[in-house]
Amino acid sequence: MPLSANNPDRKSWLHVDKNSDFPIQNIPFGVFLTRDDIITIGTRIGDTAIDLGALHQLGYFKDIPLTDDIFLQDTLNDFIADGRKTWRLVRNRIAEIFDDENEKLKGNLKHKEAVLFRLDEIEMQLPVQIGDYTDFYSSIEHATNVGTMFRDPDNALLPNWLHIPVGYHGRSSSVIPSGIPVHRPKGQTLPAGEIQPVFGPSKLVDFELEMAFITTDANDLGEPIPIEEAEEYIFGLVLFNDWSARDIQKWEYVPLGPFLAKSFASSISPWIVTLDALEPYRVESPKPLKKQLEYLQQTGKRSFDINLEVSIQPEKAKETVVSRSNFKHMYWSMAQQLTHHTVNGCPVNSGDMMGSGTISGPTPDSYGSMLELSWRGEKPVTLNDGSERKFINDNDTVIMRGYCEKDGTRIGFGEVSTKLLPVFNPKKSK
Ligand code: CA
Repeated sequence: MPLSANNPDRKSWLHVDKNSDFPIQNIPFGVFLTRDDIITIGTRIGDTAIDLGALHQLGYFKDIPLTDDIFLQDTLNDFIADGRKTWRLVRNRIAEIFDDENEKLKGNLKHKEAVLFRLDEIEMQLPVQIGDYTDFYSSIEHATNVGTMFRDPDNALLPNWLHIPVGYHGRSSSVIPSGIPVHRPKGQTLPAGEIQPVFGPSKLVDFELEMAFITTDANDLGEPIPIEEAEEYIFGLVLFNDWSARDIQKWEYVPLGPFLAKSFASSISPWIVTLDALEPYRVESPKPLKKQLEYLQQTGKRSFDINLEVSIQPEKAKETVVSRSNFKHMYWSMAQQLTHHTVNGCPVNSGDMMGSGTISGPTPDSYGSMLELSWRGEKPVTLNDGSERKFINDNDTVIMRGYCEKDGTRIGFGEVSTKLLPVFNPKKSK
């Protein structure tokens, strides 16, 4: 089916700023609360949010096989479960409805009033109910930096790393949308030089610059997904900040990997940008350094050219960009991650979320965590207001942004912005 929604020449009758992440070629999907306190599935063009539930009720999706209530839901899970053919029909239809040359909705004031919202009239929600969340560790630069710091610079990568897209099962209950603040976690740590652990606030709270992909119903128990089919089951991507408490992590992670150091919060951007919208930005992945086992061998362009950046905004100062990276640096692709995830027969469902792992680039200004940017705190990062950061301070806001740009068309993700609050205090919170 043609991706007519990606036509770079199409203009919308809705206003779109030149540098907007959301031209008519994007058409992401999200869930929002409207000014009337109604929850609905929607999309966005420029700075206008579009109520797809209302559009559907007014008959604009006629002839597309959709249930009546498919967009009148508080999650995208059922729509995503309808599969890629339906996503494409709906995106193509939305592009037609908002095409500058189509007068049907453009000329109907009453319908426009029911369907269109300013961004300050809506409140974005989590776009999917995330059944399972898995986090990978697929940037060779990040894995090498961490291995160098914590183990052995001469053998920074563990023996399995070039053979397996290493991952672990995360916790979906603490995945939150942009704008929801997070408390500094408490936990067990082992102070340097001590043999007894202590309990208290983490002193080394960090971000991890990641992206995450959202899947559709992919397979039944026992059924692996072949590598050449894997992308059919990927609905789209979001920006992903995998909050991490480095001191808790260091003490707890042996032998079974991350646990409470990661599960206190992970933040995502609220608009899911479809894999279809990203198609024009496909690029080569890094060449495999070792021959990969056959079930993981993938041909063609495996990655996407997505510019990424991280800012820190102190409570009373402007933000400072502390890292610029790119999704194309990922050594293992999303298809390889999903294939590996299911090779043992593990089912993947609609609304599952897979984190990429921290996306570090090759240069020190492209590292995707404070752990790497400040090199364990040995090289503090100076912000524009003159203050220094080794890790994240109370009341700092961490903001991640991402976009693709080619031939004058820009497709972006908006942002995921999360404030780190001081440790939870039950008395103050009442
Ligand atoms: Ca992570």
